[in-house]
Amino acid sequence: MRLRNVKGSREEIAASEFTINNPEEHKGRWNEVFGNDRPIDIEVGMGKGRFITDMALAHPDRNFIGIEKYSSVLIRALEKRAELDIDNLLFIRMDAENIEEVFAKDEVSGIYLNFSDPWPKDRHAKRRLTSRQFLKRYDNILKKDGKIEFKTDNRDLFDFSLEEVSEAGWNLIAHTFDLHNSDMNEGNIMTEYEEKFSSMGNPIHKMIINR
Ligand code: SAM
Repeated sequence: MRLRNVKGSREEIAASEFTINNPEEHKGRWNEVFGNDRPIDIEVGMGKGRFITDMALAHPDRNFIGIEKYSSVLIRALEKRAELDIDNLLFIRMDAENIEEVFAKDEVSGIYLNFSDPWPKDRHAKRRLTSRQFLKRYDNILKKDGKIEFKTDNRDLFDFSLEEVSEAGWNLIAHTFDLHNSDMNEGNIMTEYEEKFSSMGNPIHKMIINR
């Protein structure tokens, strides 16, 4: 993803009522932050936040936290968030490598990974959000019956992820190499990248996993 430096975005994000600064202070107590006991779903690498925002609107009975490393895209999600009268959507600016410092064991009910950066060089494999190293981190925060849903148009990343799922001992509940022409597409909420790549004719791959 090409990132423009959006001037002042870091300060604006820190000042927003929808961003949680020092998120590690809420580890194990995210229900207090939301003020209720609804299940908490997260999207890791949410970009400009279209997917997680539409999920929050579609599921008012759940809470959502969007996680994004870069201020320059997170700021776009905040702009949209400010127009909405909902109480179930918050954001964290952080590198997901530290996710276990922010969420306690069994604190997260669902994890969404959408069009994650492919990191094509072998030596960067552990940075891929579906690598065994990341699956281990998710294992430490996801409820026992929790699921991860992953979408991408990148076939190499999808094939790598299928191997990692098996290596890490997770179960492949369902998968498709052409989401938009499969029965897994029912209720599908599109991401920014999904819209862009599917309109170019790229088939979208999706897997749902648990352990
Ligand atoms: N999920 C969005 C979509 O489908 O439209 C954005 C996809 S974009 C290709 C991937 C996003 O993941 C980028 O905004 C990037 O900054 C973010 N990202 C990648 N690695 C991350 C990490 N370790 N922690 C947090 N965000 C990360």
